[in-house]
Amino acid sequence: MPVRSIVGVPVFGRRVLLRVDFNVPLADGRVTDDSRLRASLPTIADLRARGARLVLVSHLGRPRGKPDPSLRLEPVAACLATLIGAPVATVPEVVGPRAERAADALGPGDLLLLENVRFEPGEETNDPDFAARLARLGDLFVNDAFGAAHRAHASTVGVAALLPTYAGSLMRREIEVLSRLVGAPDAPYVAVLGGAKVSDKLAVLDRLLDRIDALVLGGGMANTFLLASGVAIGASLAEQNRVPDAQRLIAHAAARGVDLLLPTDAMVAASIDADHVEVVSVSAVTSDRAIFDIGPDTCRRYAEAIRGARTVFWNGPMGVFERAPFVAGTRAVANAVAAADAFTVVGGGDSLAAVARLGVAATIDHLSTGGGASLEFLEGRTLPGVAAIPQEVAAG
Ligand code: ADP
Ligand code: MG
Repeated sequence: MPVRSIVGVPVFGRRVLLRVDFNVPLADGRVTDDSRLRASLPTIADLRARGARLVLVSHLGRPRGKPDPSLRLEPVAACLATLIGAPVATVPEVVGPRAERAADALGPGDLLLLENVRFEPGEETNDPDFAARLARLGDLFVNDAFGAAHRAHASTVGVAALLPTYAGSLMRREIEVLSRLVGAPDAPYVAVLGGAKVSDKLAVLDRLLDRIDALVLGGGMANTFLLASGVAIGASLAEQNRVPDAQRLIAHAAARGVDLLLPTDAMVAASIDADHVEVVSVSAVTSDRAIFDIGPDTCRRYAEAIRGARTVFWNGPMGVFERAPFVAGTRAVANAVAAADAFTVVGGGDSLAAVARLGVAATIDHLSTGGGASLEFLEGRTLPGVAAIPQEVAAG
């Protein structure tokens, strides 16, 4: 059963504590990618239009339970205010008398963004006292932070036990789309995995291999697989202690008849900020060079594999796309996913930033705001933040 929706629930004049995932990248006090803010606009717009008094709560980064001036939500409030064309009030605390006064002062349709919830030590420990103080700020709780649903924190699970709890439309859509990938996706189903580390993604790889037809690997994680297949990768980022896991996954793929695509060539350099970049075969990476992107032959093979898919899940860039010399692999995959005649889902903070920067976001069927949460969902795990939302009552 789907989790119950806030749509249609009377909210006029009521304080709605709305958990959002505003964990966006910042540089020099500005939001550099607003994808996650945009993703929560439908829920915010619906609640404002219906006269709710909105108290928004989010985390940002990892301040580990104490205030960190570089992780304050002020710049996020400014960016949100621009996006919605209305003021967004802030308070310099998460809970307490000032937060309560600010919440009480809200009129119908007004917004307040509380300070970074991870400044509070009780957030990540799901402390009952902290959850109770947070719950004092709302009459209802709406969770639209799918990206934080894999964490049993006070603002995802604790408050849900204290207030009438509903899902926002982003939360509902994430669950619906990702359920489709776990259920019966159209074949061929191609998964494209990249990013920095394989250890983050081992569990999902194991589960995915039971469902997919092809696995396309790039980024730093492909290096560990190259090592596992006996290729020397020079000074490239890799996880030596994960080589046995990679070997097991290679065997698992072979046993299931899943096509496993690994890079055949790469963009190498002496360091990440070196200007001199070369294309080499993966069998020719010298000990003084590191792989920072897939090469042109690999781009062509990967685009070909994606072109034939009916379902695509992509998580993790193919290279260090933040730097121009290493963006080509991620661009090739982004263009192929955008052009595929397939149901396409892209997840992960850096992957979404890449897709936005490369201008293909509008052609992807679903941009999953979850990184870890999407992967855990695809593993088939129950997310605590989702489990904390009551299910829809069947009609009739
Ligand atoms: P996502 O946030 O989409 O889940 P990850 O956080 O797993 O993705 O990985 C993204 C990071 O991986 C990027 O910052 C990128 O620079 C880095 N990366 C990709 N390829 C490599 C590589 N070959 N060597 C080092 N870092 C890499
Ligand atoms: Mg990331």
